[in-house]
Amino acid sequence: MPKRGEFLYEGKAKKIYATDDPGVLWMYYKDDATAFDGAKKGVIPHKGIMNNRVTNLLFRLLEKNGIETHLLEEIDERNVLVKKLDMIPVEIVVRNRVAGSLAKRLGLEEGTELKGTILEFYYKNDELGDPMINEYHAEVMGWATREELKAMQEKALEINEVLLPFFDSIGIILVDYKLEFGRLDGRIVLGDEISPDTCRLWDKVSLEKLDKDRFRRDLGKEEEAYMEVVRRIEGKLAGLR
Ligand code: ADP
Ligand code: UDP
Repeated sequence: MPKRGEFLYEGKAKKIYATDDPGVLWMYYKDDATAFDGAKKGVIPHKGIMNNRVTNLLFRLLEKNGIETHLLEEIDERNVLVKKLDMIPVEIVVRNRVAGSLAKRLGLEEGTELKGTILEFYYKNDELGDPMINEYHAEVMGWATREELKAMQEKALEINEVLLPFFDSIGIILVDYKLEFGRLDGRIVLGDEISPDTCRLWDKVSLEKLDKDRFRRDLGKEEEAYMEVVRRIEGKLAGLR
């Protein structure tokens, strides 16, 4: 197993280290929680453990369905080895129902069902508050080529085809979520995380929020909600290798 090397970067949710293999990064998941571009700060106990677990299980599920992810090996409950990607600074948001910024921007009620899936691009830049962009911005600014953006959209829809029915099978509505991709040997590979921090997850029956909106909106019981997601996913995927 590669050894942990030099500390490289501390983000809002994770710390990144090099390893003795130049193609491999070491990721450490923190309990720190932030919202509104870092303006609201807090801690959700055990969040790092829960997000590492959820991401690794979902990434294995995606790999089983032919979608390449950066996942290499879960080291322990907070640490994971991943393929080092040349990250594309464009986030892609996948929406199955109206919520959050879409509800605000278009004056729609949260929870409204959509006739199809909506994909949106955002420029990953904390100082600017991750502004929404389109393909022209990304291409002209040199953040990604047309082909890369198309590949990201295709992969996002493929991922949704796997995750939407999976979450449904554990009694959860996958309302919306954010994906990050990077380049590796000419391929576009899924990186970062998919967790209650980066998704909106609603209980199918009660519509209770099981995600970071509990923190953003001061609803309380964040740890319990994240744990419920872990419990349901593990119930289905614990044996997945
Ligand atoms: P942020 O930087 O948004 O505060 P994190 O604290 O989660 O977020 O930090 C993780 C950082 O690592 C992000 O900048 C993300 O783009 C980057 N990253 C995620 N996966 C990979 C990967 N496989 N290779 C290189 N960088 C990655
Ligand atoms: N999201 C994320 N990181 C971001 C922005 C959004 O993980 O930097 C996720 C967010 O958790 C939600 C989805 O993407 O599941 C859509 O977020 P939205 O545009 O509604 O923004 P918000 O109102 O959450 O800021």
